[in-house]
Amino acid sequence: MNNISILGKDCCGCTACEQICPKNCISFKENNEGFMYPVVEQAVCVNCGACTKHCPVLNPLPTENVPTVYAAKYRDNQTTAKSTSGGIFIPIAKNTLANGGIVYGCAYDENLAARHIAVENENELFRLQGSKYVQSDLSGIYSRIKADLESDRYVLFSGTGCQVAGLRSFLGREYEKLTTVDIVCHGVPSPRLFARYIDYLGKKLGEPVKSYNFRSKKRHGWGLFYELEWDKKSKGGSGFDDPYYNAFLNCKTYREGCYSCRFANCNRQGDITLADFWGIEYINPKFYSKNGVSLVLVNTEKGKKLWISLDNCIDSADSTLEQAVKMNKNLSAPSSRPDCRNSIYEGFDGDFEEYVAKKLYVKPDIKRKIKAVVPVSLKGRIKHMLKK
Ligand SMILES: Cc1cc2nc3c(=O)[nH]c(=O)nc-3n(C[C@H](O)[C@H](O)[C@H](O)COP(=O)(O)OP(=O)(O)OC[C@H]3O[C@@H](n4cnc5c(N)ncnc54)[C@H](O)[C@@H]3O)c2cc1C
Repeated sequence: MNNISILGKDCCGCTACEQICPKNCISFKENNEGFMYPVVEQAVCVNCGACTKHCPVLNPLPTENVPTVYAAKYRDNQTTAKSTSGGIFIPIAKNTLANGGIVYGCAYDENLAARHIAVENENELFRLQGSKYVQSDLSGIYSRIKADLESDRYVLFSGTGCQVAGLRSFLGREYEKLTTVDIVCHGVPSPRLFARYIDYLGKKLGEPVKSYNFRSKKRHGWGLFYELEWDKKSKGGSGFDDPYYNAFLNCKTYREGCYSCRFANCNRQGDITLADFWGIEYINPKFYSKNGVSLVLVNTEKGKKLWISLDNCIDSADSTLEQAVKMNKNLSAPSSRPDCRNSIYEGFDGDFEEYVAKKLYVKPDIKRKIKAVVPVSLKGRIKHMLKK
């Protein structure tokens, strides 16, 4: 086996090359940072070129979308309370299930590893709710989707822009019954870093961690708040105060290719794009909700039909691409690579406590703590007063 990566550091890890290879000679192996990269078994490879032809980074498929932009909220408040933003993903998924279709999205497995799974039953949709700020494992998923589509099932696939692009490249043609939802993404940290972090938290707590919710609304409503659960206890707070989360929010731990992401722009890969509508309290204060507001980009004719069909279960307000981009940097450019990215993974496989202290240390910051819990309505009023 030769350690030959097809694309080097620009690889987004979508696995389209592995799943398209007619000789099954590509496999994904962890690099020293815990990210998965393709490795080609040269002795079996026949140089057919399928892998590079279907690579979404080397050959991105064109998109000519002029999105229609909305702020939106799912009317089912209880469900939305468990979603990341305005909960719009759930009614989209329910629509597919109502047609006898299958929904693919990212869930935690029993070890809190993020991986894409198939859901065929409404009762299981909760597993896909909530953003997991770590790279999700897509092994075998594109091939399963192709088989579902070939047997004439409706399929909804949701994932980051590169994952949707990977699916489109893998399939190589349009399918009437496939709908895609891409989520706006800053970048993804390594699965092994997250696994090591969860293990470290468990050791500190003296109990295994049962769940880590990156976007809990339980204590402070919609925002960047985590909730960690173990045994029958839980703890939560601002993401900026959690070492792993803080590094994520400051773009320190992303896969190398994320810093040059080709999909971080307004030309979206999905039929519908979902994100947080940050700043809605200033743009349209009446539409703000403590339970979260989604930013929705309806990109294609298929997306438009789907959007119209959701009319009876969502509230929406018109917005513009200009407003969306202003509040969501990753709709116009990839995240910037900080200098500390060069060495952020050094030592993460050793003593993790020492690693956290050296590389992920978060300075206590009272101002930040207060800012994080000040209600948005009050922040809006303060900003308004300061403007006068
Ligand atoms: C790594 C990452 C970075 C993000 N960065 C931004 C950002 O910069 N700005 C912004 O506005 N929004 C960002 N989001 C998107 C945002 O957090 C919400 O996912 C989006 O608003 C949808 O919310 P919802 O309430 O409709 O969905 P929910 O019901 O919470 O559903 C979550 C959806 O996200 C998918 N998902 C969850 N975790 C992953 C993952 N690791 N990989 C692929 N898909 C996943 C699920 O399949 C599901 O479709 C990011 C999400 C992720 C996972």
